[in-house]
Amino acid sequence: MMPGSATRDDLQDLYRELILDHARHPRHFGKLPSATHTAEGINPLCGDKLRIYLNVGSGDTIDDIAFEGSGCAISMASASLLTEALAGRAVADAMRYFEAVTQRLTGKEGPRDTAVDLGKLGALDGVRDYPSRVKCATLAWHALRSAIEERPAPATTE
Ligand code: ZN
Repeated sequence: MMPGSATRDDLQDLYRELILDHARHPRHFGKLPSATHTAEGINPLCGDKLRIYLNVGSGDTIDDIAFEGSGCAISMASASLLTEALAGRAVADAMRYFEAVTQRLTGKEGPRDTAVDLGKLGALDGVRDYPSRVKCATLAWHALRSAIEERPAPATTE
């Protein structure tokens, strides 16, 4: 093996570390009192419950983003990674990320959207083999879509 090359196991360990780090120290955690958009997401199967806050500025960019809630490590890490990936992006881009991430995690991946660089979100790939955990990982993303589309009812995985 070449020095410095990562094996599949190394990569999985790295991803696990990343998930645990985000679950223990979620980024952008808290309320956004000035939020222009907000929505709740509920995953009754696991007991995950969270709320996404967006502050959409002029020019339709996400000037600020936050989430709060409680749930399993996967749901919290996914929400944290979401906020990190989408802060400062255009709302239209956020929807492209929604499509890319949910399609990838549910195995319904269509043609790859080359404008979407999933980056650290690839750490969520490990849940694909566990359908119940997929709902944990996509919960924040469904809440994001509800917030952007200003749907009044909570996003639920059931
Ligand atoms: Zn969960």
